[in-house]
Amino acid sequence: MNQAFLVKYGEIGIKGKNRHLFEERLVKQVEFALKDVDGIFKVTRPQGRVFVEAQGPVDKTEVLDALTKVFGVTAIAPCTYIEDTGFDDLAKAVVDYVGEEFAGKDFTFKVNARRARKNYPMDSMEINAAIGEKLLDAYPTLKVDVHNPEVMLHIEIREKINFYASEIPGPGGMPVGTNGKAELLLSGGIDSPVAGYMVAKRGVTIDAVYFHAPPYTSERAKQKVVDLAKLISGYSGPMRLHVVNFTDIQLKIYDTCPHEELTIIMRRYMMKIAGHFAKADGALGLVTGESIGQVASQTMQSLLVTDNAATLPVYRPLIGFDKSEIVDIAKRIGTYETSILPYEDCCTIFVARHPVTKPNLKIIKASEARLGKSFEDLVEQAVSEAELVRIPGGISRK
Ligand code: ATP
Ligand code: MG
Repeated sequence: MNQAFLVKYGEIGIKGKNRHLFEERLVKQVEFALKDVDGIFKVTRPQGRVFVEAQGPVDKTEVLDALTKVFGVTAIAPCTYIEDTGFDDLAKAVVDYVGEEFAGKDFTFKVNARRARKNYPMDSMEINAAIGEKLLDAYPTLKVDVHNPEVMLHIEIREKINFYASEIPGPGGMPVGTNGKAELLLSGGIDSPVAGYMVAKRGVTIDAVYFHAPPYTSERAKQKVVDLAKLISGYSGPMRLHVVNFTDIQLKIYDTCPHEELTIIMRRYMMKIAGHFAKADGALGLVTGESIGQVASQTMQSLLVTDNAATLPVYRPLIGFDKSEIVDIAKRIGTYETSILPYEDCCTIFVARHPVTKPNLKIIKASEARLGKSFEDLVEQAVSEAELVRIPGGISRK
């Protein structure tokens, strides 16, 4: 029998005028996601669905792994399809399908036919009744339960006819490439990869900036961030990762400013530098993994002072999340195991024992003024000497 995958989508279906754009993007992303899966696939877009036909045998798990990473997909139903060669052939195919798909035959079921092609000679009620009868004849231990069936057997009559009995949830959201681009401040921690995932889920393309401080931070710490970027790009597509050497900037701040202000001042310079890359990459906002109150630099006062240094809106998708909730998402999307590997972070190395929790913008700006004119050269140098790492990804950027 022919293997196919019925890809369902939700939100994009109700987007009015934009609907076509969204659907075309979704088809493109599905095709892109399948590009590294063994087999040949034909992707079509019958009304309200994306239909993936496998041209020959494929590894179902591999296909599902790829499709569950495509934002915009709400559910995927592995299904079997046949050409319409009359009702008797359909009934036989469904009986064979149930025979192959379910080892035991002692469950309750309901047939749920949908006639998307109205010229089919039977209506859905007639199909339900007739197929139900054929199944009961073939497997007398089956029982019909129209209210609470253990198995719901869906039959969709379209150009071709497909049937399926189960579906697995997709990631939801919107196809990447439908909502502009954002610049992610990506560290080796648990939070920022999740923040990047959350924004990409709304259809946003992601580029990223990572600040390191060699030799205080190691090559291994950088590799960890590259690995995290790769994991995110599995959902969000190929990514430009700018690796910025932050050492001289941090040392200068360390030598010049009160130590309890180090973190907040560093944060402000991160925003400024990330803003520069955002502009170069065409991003319309910055994204961080901050949540209110998690650490001293994430109090409402600190966030206010940090935002003041940013020239673009700063999006913080985790702002109201507890750490345990963030960890749950990190585990689900597959970044957690990498995030918890030991590493040195540029901020933790230069951190003060008692950082300010209620910074005052005027005071902070006065401290920054002491950094002098030559400090701007350091910032410019960090930008111009940043290394660009191109991260491949399973989803198309455009
Ligand atoms: P994370 O787990 O994401 O590192 P965190 O709880 O450790 O977050 P902080 O280290 O205070 O919090 O960082 C807050 C946010 O600032 C991070 O989520 C990230 O977006 C950004 N950030 C921090 N350090 C770096 C860095 N070295 N490079 C790029 N961005 C960073
Ligand atoms: Mg961190």
